[in-house]
Amino acid sequence: MNDKIYDISIIGGGPAGMFAAYFARLRNLKVALIESLPKLGGQPETLYAQKHIYDIAALPKVSGTDLTKQLTEQLEIRNCDQYLSTSITSIVRKDDLWELSTNKGETITTKAVIIAIGNGAFEPRKLTFDYDSSLDDEKINYFVNNIDDFKDVDVAVAGGGDSAVDWAIDISKIAKSTSLIHRRNKYRAMESSVDKLNKSDIQQLNPYIIKGVNYNPDNKDKIDITLKKIKTNDLDVVTVDKLLVNYGFVSDSKILRDWNVELNGPFIKVTQEMETNLPNVFAIGDIVTYPGKLQLIATAFAEGPIAVTKALRNLYPDKDYFEHSTSIFEK
Ligand SMILES: Cc1cc2nc3c(=O)[nH]c(=O)nc-3n(C[C@H](O)[C@H](O)[C@H](O)COP(=O)(O)OP(=O)(O)OC[C@H]3O[C@@H](n4cnc5c(N)ncnc54)[C@H](O)[C@@H]3O)c2cc1C
Repeated sequence: MNDKIYDISIIGGGPAGMFAAYFARLRNLKVALIESLPKLGGQPETLYAQKHIYDIAALPKVSGTDLTKQLTEQLEIRNCDQYLSTSITSIVRKDDLWELSTNKGETITTKAVIIAIGNGAFEPRKLTFDYDSSLDDEKINYFVNNIDDFKDVDVAVAGGGDSAVDWAIDISKIAKSTSLIHRRNKYRAMESSVDKLNKSDIQQLNPYIIKGVNYNPDNKDKIDITLKKIKTNDLDVVTVDKLLVNYGFVSDSKILRDWNVELNGPFIKVTQEMETNLPNVFAIGDIVTYPGKLQLIATAFAEGPIAVTKALRNLYPDKDYFEHSTSIFEK
């Protein structure tokens, strides 16, 4: 049992959690930041490290990984206790405090909690049929860790959402050939991305579903993807070096039900001050819903300060806090 009592414990080290942690430290609060993955950064770092983001204030163009670097550098100015590779499994009220249990059997005690778990611990939606598990990571990928893994090889990307279309476009710039396999004729992606796709030399294979993936019998470096044309019995085989599956992610809202936090669908309902139905439990970022919510980093960045300020007011009503200029914190 950790004897320390934190003012605020933030569950989730994505952009929302990282910036909230820094903002709370700037107010001299005792802060714990807990992240289930071995590294901070959330979706930009894990799902699209090398894709560019164009709607962060004062950063005209930044890659997912560079955004994480900047957030890390900022957090290091006033660092907090970080619990990496640690998942919170339950939150329980004890007297006026919250006890957070981790998957490592630890308990983190805190006065306030900010839930910033995004879509939950990342679990990519996998191919639904059985295949040789040795294909995973080497031949079948669910994440892009390094785009150079796709350089100069034949690649198939599966999926029809923003992520699949964006990755197909980015990969096509370095791959030997790229195809995009989608079960519908229409994509669920931004119009501008679909325009780019249509102007590219990416081979669009739709409407097809993948029925099987096997090593190519003549060349073990290649894989054969068996495709079935929707509403027909026509089968086709595409031979490539790598398959990137982008079917989205399974969200973890089941765990939230056990935490007794009020939900609207898979999202946490919050007030204008980011409060949940539980005392001193706040939520920010992609996991929340309220009228007008946008699932964007810019919005997540704004929600952290709102939650931290409300927590500060609840915990220390007599304390002098400021809301305006941060220059008073210059050392
Ligand atoms: C392909 C793609 C492109 C995008 N492009 C843009 C863009 O251009 N501009 C933009 O503004 N937004 C973009 N987004 C959306 C943006 O990435 C999200 O809005 C943002 O990441 C939300 O941040 P977050 O911190 O709320 O959640 P996340 O980034 O999801 O981070 C949540 C973190 O919590 C951790 N976690 C989950 N459960 C637990 C637990 N129980 N215990 C401990 N840790 C836990 C997760 O591992 C994760 O690291 C894009 C998203 C995708 C998928």
